Amino acid sequence: MSPYSSCQHGYAIHLPNALSLSLYVGQHVEGVSHPFRPNMKLPRFSAFLLLLPLSAVASTAHDFDFFYFVQQWPGSYCDTRQSCCYPSTGKPASDFGIHGLWPNYNDGSYPSNCDSDWPYDASEMSDLMGMMQMNWPTLACPSGDGSSFWSHEWRKHGTCSESLLDQRSYFQAALYLKKQVDLLKVLQDAGIRPDGGFYSLRGIAGAIREAIGYTPGIQCNVDESGNRQLYQIYLCVDTWGKELIECPVFPRSKCSSRVEFPPF
Ligand code: 5GP
Ligand code: 5GP
Repeated sequence: MSPYSSCQHGYAIHLPNALSLSLYVGQHVEGVSHPFRPNMKLPRFSAFLLLLPLSAVASTAHDFDFFYFVQQWPGSYCDTRQSCCYPSTGKPASDFGIHGLWPNYNDGSYPSNCDSDWPYDASEMSDLMGMMQMNWPTLACPSGDGSSFWSHEWRKHGTCSESLLDQRSYFQAALYLKKQVDLLKVLQDAGIRPDGGFYSLRGIAGAIREAIGYTPGIQCNVDESGNRQLYQIYLCVDTWGKELIECPVFPRSKCSSRVEFPPF
């Protein structure tokens, strides 16, 4: 089924994995609603049966199935009711910017905040600073140089893939992926420009699929006038953060069949 045949995508929930990670390892699992509560009273034997498979997966606590590589269109971040602030380093380029590289499970749930003992260390990033500011600019208010955005992304998402990528490799992987796929060029080559026009969602997804060979996830938000617009593009990547893959599951879209592509 095409991910663009409807706007909402339900999450299938793979319970043993998600539940074990949140209850037994202290790792926060988002994107799933738990039908059980930890303090729920269970007959002793049922509790034993439940604990068996859970303890078996606890040793693979930091496993995940793939990454979402998420890029945001700055025009769509800024023209909303909440507005935006340009980074202290100046207005970013009129280009997609990185939002994050997010470990995910195939069932649509995801781990987050996996290791509070590994805080973001800016000193590891000094020679990457120019690339980070250009490709991963922060647009949230108040204005900043990006370090609080990057630190947030490392703590929330990066620590969940730290068994494979240390902090520097994690950010380098995202920068490399951005370089591999020039989304704005791909869209412009297909006649889809950030000119305030409305474009078919299928056309946008089709242009990207045609260029890179994989179907993207597309997320929309709403501008101040209530128009649905192209906000974020999700590509799926293997657990090494290197190769694009077909998405096992797509994010919630919130798009209509035609969406605005606002200027920036
Ligand atoms: P929102 O609820 O605005 O879509 O997402 C808020 C934040 O939750 C995102 O910026 C991201 O940090 C996290 N998030 C939302 N959906 C997903 C998802 O499908 N996978 C992962 N890994 N994180 C997500
Ligand atoms: P997430 O939605 O990934 O959990 O968190 C995004 C966090 O990073 C929010 O606290 C948001 O204010 C901050 N942030 C800073 N700059 C940006 C930006 O350019 N885009 C987005 N989406 N969030 C940003």
